[in-house]
Amino acid sequence: MLRLEDPVSKIKSVGQRWSAKLDNLGVKTVRDLLFHFPTRYEDFSEIYRITDLIPRQEATIRGVVEEITTRKSWKRNLYLTEAVISDDSGSIRAVWFNQPYVKNILQPGITANFSGKISGNAEVYLSNPTYEILKSEESLTKHTGRIVGIYPETRGLTSKGLRNMISTALSEMGKADDPIPERIRNEENLPEMNEALKKIHFPENMEETLSSRKRFSFEDLFLLQLYNLKQKITLAKSHSVKIPMDLDYVKELIGKLPFPLTLSQKKSLFEILKDTEKNVPMNRLLQGDVGSGKTVVAAIAALNAARSGKQVAFMAPTSILASQHYNTFIRLFDDFEGGVALLTSGESEIFYGHELSSEITKKRALTEIEKNKVKIIIGTHALLQKYVSFPELALVIVDEQHRFGVKQRAELLDERRSGLVPHFLSMSATPIPRTLSLTLFGDLDLSLINELPKNRKKIITKTVSPEERKKTYEFIRASMKEGRQAFVICPRIDPPEDEPKNYMAALMWQVKAVKEEYEKLSKEIFPDFKTAMLHGKMKSGEKENTMKDFLNKKINLLVSTSVVEVGVDVPNATIMMIEDADRFGLAQLYQFRGRVGRGEHQSYCFLFTESKTKNSNQRMKAIIEAKNGFELAEYDLKMRGPGEFLGESQTGMPDLAMKAIQNPELVKRTRELAFEILKESPDVKKYPRLKERLQIFESKIHWE
Ligand code: ADP
Ligand code: MG
Repeated sequence: MLRLEDPVSKIKSVGQRWSAKLDNLGVKTVRDLLFHFPTRYEDFSEIYRITDLIPRQEATIRGVVEEITTRKSWKRNLYLTEAVISDDSGSIRAVWFNQPYVKNILQPGITANFSGKISGNAEVYLSNPTYEILKSEESLTKHTGRIVGIYPETRGLTSKGLRNMISTALSEMGKADDPIPERIRNEENLPEMNEALKKIHFPENMEETLSSRKRFSFEDLFLLQLYNLKQKITLAKSHSVKIPMDLDYVKELIGKLPFPLTLSQKKSLFEILKDTEKNVPMNRLLQGDVGSGKTVVAAIAALNAARSGKQVAFMAPTSILASQHYNTFIRLFDDFEGGVALLTSGESEIFYGHELSSEITKKRALTEIEKNKVKIIIGTHALLQKYVSFPELALVIVDEQHRFGVKQRAELLDERRSGLVPHFLSMSATPIPRTLSLTLFGDLDLSLINELPKNRKKIITKTVSPEERKKTYEFIRASMKEGRQAFVICPRIDPPEDEPKNYMAALMWQVKAVKEEYEKLSKEIFPDFKTAMLHGKMKSGEKENTMKDFLNKKINLLVSTSVVEVGVDVPNATIMMIEDADRFGLAQLYQFRGRVGRGEHQSYCFLFTESKTKNSNQRMKAIIEAKNGFELAEYDLKMRGPGEFLGESQTGMPDLAMKAIQNPELVKRTRELAFEILKESPDVKKYPRLKERLQIFESKIHWE
């Protein structure tokens, strides 16, 4: 019997080849597959008589294959398969492009359903229909003669293929246990999980899809609320070291800065210092636009802790970011003698004040830390979590990562001091509207920096039409000649392999791909400059090296996907050019733009768009006029809903939960129920299936 935890390869009909393709979608287990929901549905439930078909309609017919042929068209590499299909009322031609194998499947005499678009005018035909052979008149169908789910697809994996695998999985699977307790299901009128899974993939009618969706949104939101409350309760019961606030020292530090802090920087700093004074662990998220100056706020909090003899771990997602924080630190506070260490995979260094920075071996650094001779330790999270033990750790600061569980914190501590939990501060530049973050990060207290330092130059932002492309390239060339650097952002990595089969595919087909743009820009447009590319499929070491080369001005132009979004301060980069700007969310565009405008030179952001719709104009206008990321995020949220506004990648939250967050009733109800459950059984032991599900949820919400 198939189980939810099994790898997809265990499903009959899913072999190596399909496993790899599913992997591209992030689908590894049977659970992942079954929870890969359709994004929309097409209604093929009515079976039409061939004579009744109208051009341009989407329809299903049921008929017998009379004849079928395949030929290669005059256009190279285009196979055309044509069949004649008939029912009692008449006959129609069906045409498939580049699917020569169809001829071997649909042999003459076979009865099948055909669903698809009716094309042509005088003589109509079925264009690329989905077909399904019927063994008997009543056989159950998956792809035709019913409402069918349309899935987010990946290359070579169609909705039809997904439906087949999901259908097999559903039939091979025993009844899986429902994590939502039965009592709650009954009270809230939610369908049972197995039933809901079946209905969300193969619904009889649209009501079934709605009630199933509601059920799964409820589940996600319920888990989120449970997680948040559980963290809150656990933390409230645990203890941490009090870090006394030395106000004179803090004032002295602020006074030494080469710039005045903004009001919201001061406010946030004070909120943090107030929290860390207590013996209950702080759990705070510091949100602020890129460049709003979060690092210096965190740094002062760290120095205040160091003042009282405590240690601080400062974690960044990449080595470059860690080095950057380290450099900011020793530049701004160059007379700090308590020891600042940088520990990344490539570097280990300790700074004891007054330019006495020295490279030492990692082993030495670790010993110094263990002797509490270094108060502030900056590094990548993996490194700090794995190898370092801190005798006096009192504060953990994490950049660009929202959550850090109670358990993860405890793991950082030296065993001799178990029982204590360090204070935790996370920093994020992802602008999330307040209403959303209250639910999404209900376990965290929030501090907000909602203004940029006064000295910032405005980034000149412009939309660029296809006719202006050449002129823009000339401008970029001139800037690069003056020594500036530029980013080009594209929505995807590879150009698609196949010819587009339908309108949507054709739209996607035109979307700029990094590899293609890189070829074009490096060979044709800017052959005399150094161009490089950056994308998510590169190894992390490769990515870091490219970023480093860019930072060190060895590269003039960097062609990248959205991976560049979180990241590095390159003051010399003054141009951000975004291809197919319509493809990105506003929050994302805003983040891209924040990558430039860091240095002394005037910066520019060019939004390339071919779309002239009102909606697109409004979006571009919004980004040009936005005062800060949060304002824009509110707007984006209203326009698009939270699912698309923030992808799963940014929040770790599934799409359905993201959508559900906008439903205040559901937010409130799930919170109440989570509260009830935890009151009844604080460790959820009483509900083993829920507990198990919660553990999976937690592991996804934390990063490794
Ligand atoms: P982020 O919030 O994106 O992490 P950083 O902390 O990297 O931003 O700050 C960006 C730059 O702005 C740094 O060089 C920092 O020294 C500088 N900075 C921080 N606060 C101020 C301020 N109040 N006025 C002027 N510059 C500031
Ligand atoms: Mg930062």
